[in-house]
Amino acid sequence: MNLPFRVPASEPSAKGCVDQPVIRERGQREVFCGLTGIVWLHRKIQNAFFLVVGSRTCAHLIQSAAGVMIFAEPRFATAIIDERDLAGLADIDDELDRVVNRLLDRRPDIEMLFLVGSCPSEVIKLDLKRAAQRLSKIHLPRVRVLNYSGSGIETTFTQGEDACLAALVADALPETKPTSLVVVGALSDVVEDQFNRIFAQMGLENVGFLPARHAGSMPAIGPETRYLLAQPFLNDTARALDELGAQHIPAPFPLGANGTTAWLKAAADHFGVSDERFALATEAGHKRAEKALAAHRETLTGKSIFFFPDSQLELPLARFLHEELGMQLVEVGTPYLHRQHLRHELERLPAGTILSEGQDVDRQLDRCRESKPDLVVCGLGLANPLEAEGFSTKWSIELVFTPIQGYDQAGDLAGLFARPLNRQARLGGL
Ligand code: SF4
Repeated sequence: MNLPFRVPASEPSAKGCVDQPVIRERGQREVFCGLTGIVWLHRKIQNAFFLVVGSRTCAHLIQSAAGVMIFAEPRFATAIIDERDLAGLADIDDELDRVVNRLLDRRPDIEMLFLVGSCPSEVIKLDLKRAAQRLSKIHLPRVRVLNYSGSGIETTFTQGEDACLAALVADALPETKPTSLVVVGALSDVVEDQFNRIFAQMGLENVGFLPARHAGSMPAIGPETRYLLAQPFLNDTARALDELGAQHIPAPFPLGANGTTAWLKAAADHFGVSDERFALATEAGHKRAEKALAAHRETLTGKSIFFFPDSQLELPLARFLHEELGMQLVEVGTPYLHRQHLRHELERLPAGTILSEGQDVDRQLDRCRESKPDLVVCGLGLANPLEAEGFSTKWSIELVFTPIQGYDQAGDLAGLFARPLNRQARLGGL
């Protein structure tokens, strides 16, 4: 049967940028550390608490990045470890135990506690894994204690989520009947609800989300489990799932009308959903998304865009902006390029797109200035100087904080890129 709307091919084939050489940069980096992930993870997993074991710098980062989002009972804090604590490692362990015991006494709602490592040398000397195991033994079954690193030495900001989810998969999933389909990557609740409805309309049952909204309702994983990645920065998590026997369903990421349809179609094909049923479940959403995108086409089509490496969302975003909105890709940088997870995105990028992996800020700034793109996607640290030079910029971190996946977010996603260009046009017209 012919579907009443376009479904991009989901079978891998050698095209697009799949075999394209990549510029590899290994210079100075300007990105947030993995602690930043706490900003969205603490909102997602209720009954979980993130205790950063770090310095005052870490406390400042996490409070200024997340401060605006604190409501009545915050779900994160910093245990500050500094030089004075260095009298002996045993003292630090005792101090950590004291902080955790006090916290758990005060907060009976906490069911999962993450000890999040950072980069001060005092913290690096701590064995947080052992501490988590020790504390888990004391507080189980009421609270499970896990650990991961959000250190700026080891992680860029979206890697914090990867490290957190990998820790969850390794140590904290239930051993009940494995979930058939798991969507992996933190999604806002509204997006999760939308996908859940579509999967139900497709007739797929036993669908789970990792992370789940509640610490106590994480999906069980086993060899029967198939998983879809909702985020492109989850390499360690995927490896941990593979080790449990789960299998990845390759797909593009669910950004835009086409991206979302292709992502859903990959699951539908895997589970043998008929074309008719798939069309019934997705057609209305696809059309709504296309209509919402059309409103931004006039602003975006033909405009050039340069991506600095920051969030690892760059390739799926570039595909969306080129394929669905006609933007011209000047350079697409990403901190890490996982060719397997991004294969479907690489296939859809126009051949000849300049791809770069890793960061060397000065060289990338030179290329950016030379190419004079209409819009630059970059981290906060680069945005202000580039704006001062007359470039329009979009903060990549905003794309991580905002719900952008799925049909009903496609228009908002396009709007995030159209807004700085519209603003520039208005300023130019003054
Ligand atoms: Fe800074 Fe490291 Fe703390 Fe991140 S983890 S805020 S990079 S000291």
